[in-house]
Amino acid sequence: MSDLAPPAISVWQDLERRARAVLESYNFREIRTPMLEKTGVFQRSLGNTTDVVQKEMYTFEDRGGRSLSLRPEGTAGVMRFIAGAGPDFADARLYYMGPMFRCERPQAGRKRQFHQVGVEALGTAHPAVDAEVIALQMHLLSAWGLSDCTLQVNSRGLASDRDAVAAGLRSALEPHVSTLCDDCRRRMDSNVLRVLDCKQEDCRRVVEGLPPMSDFMTEESRKYLRDVLDTLDRLEIPAVFNPRLVRGLDYYVQTVWEITSSALGAQDALSGGGRYEISLGSKSIEGVGFAMGIERIIMALEAEGKTGGDSGKELVWVVSLGEKALDDNFKLAQTLRQRGIRCDMDLRGRSMKAQMRAANKASASHAVIRGEEEMEKGTFLLKNMKDGSQEELEMPELIERFSRALSLAGGE
Ligand code: AMP
Repeated sequence: MSDLAPPAISVWQDLERRARAVLESYNFREIRTPMLEKTGVFQRSLGNTTDVVQKEMYTFEDRGGRSLSLRPEGTAGVMRFIAGAGPDFADARLYYMGPMFRCERPQAGRKRQFHQVGVEALGTAHPAVDAEVIALQMHLLSAWGLSDCTLQVNSRGLASDRDAVAAGLRSALEPHVSTLCDDCRRRMDSNVLRVLDCKQEDCRRVVEGLPPMSDFMTEESRKYLRDVLDTLDRLEIPAVFNPRLVRGLDYYVQTVWEITSSALGAQDALSGGGRYEISLGSKSIEGVGFAMGIERIIMALEAEGKTGGDSGKELVWVVSLGEKALDDNFKLAQTLRQRGIRCDMDLRGRSMKAQMRAANKASASHAVIRGEEEMEKGTFLLKNMKDGSQEELEMPELIERFSRALSLAGGE
């Protein structure tokens, strides 16, 4: 688990700010669910046989002997909320952003606390809604500045096609059982779709020779997939049909997709999503959604050389010559801050040289310098820290200068 501290935090804040702007433009609203839920919330939503639930959750008993787990993903908590929320939320469009926890072996791009941005569009299935959610995800990626992304789309068929698809795949795999890895041989019985996901070289070769899953589906499922692909085409979103894409979780039905980034190399999966039907007790919840790992997004941005570093908001460092100026400058700093101008100063009365050093260390864009002479005249020396140029300004001009810079930077 990592600390997220300055200066890297500004990259995160920038991503989050852009994400909220895009998500809200599609009329998605934020939901913040607890980070800790009863373990059953994840077992019911994600299925008991998934790796996430079986091997990766931080699960413990609380003081009352209840089994609780840190959330490994965001959908289950949202589903628990929706199941109890009533008809107002039947067609809700929700997004979440925050930390998730998985007790897995740390490796490049894999953390035990990581962060996701995700959305859930609840309500009955329609191909246009699936295409809209995919469009939203592609929009997010481009708003973050990621350009080298490939979208792959497939269908798992209706829930009622599940048995026929599994039987079709099983019989197509039967002649190759001896080539499959031990895990896949087990999966043949327990969860044959997962064979398509196996990363082992031999299994992949077998999978490449299989007929597409859609061969075993009803015409209704095939038409739904065609409609999703046609809608994406009309929206001018390039999509590649990948007949072997399944995604890990059991609750997916119909549309599933994955986005990869060539910038990421071997671990090129950026994110994926899909349509789901989740049964919680007597309720079945339908929706479509995706979740994106922010660490992974930042890795891709770094690989494309697109993480700028600082927040872009200008920093003004107020420099005082003499004790009297120090008191007055403290008030000046407060005035600038109240105008939303990012501002700092040395309050300990250190030398001019030490103050300028502090301004440089903090990467201040400007220094506002004032001593007794300026106080008498009612002016300020404004020094541009980049090019060293200096000018003398009065208060209204000073405030005007930074307010304009703020609005240009899209500041608050
Ligand atoms: P999943 O819920 O497994 O489909 O993961 C969704 C996204 O979350 C993935 O594409 C990753 O970008 C990200 N992710 C999953 N697990 C981790 C992890 N341990 N560390 C960092 N990111 C992760």
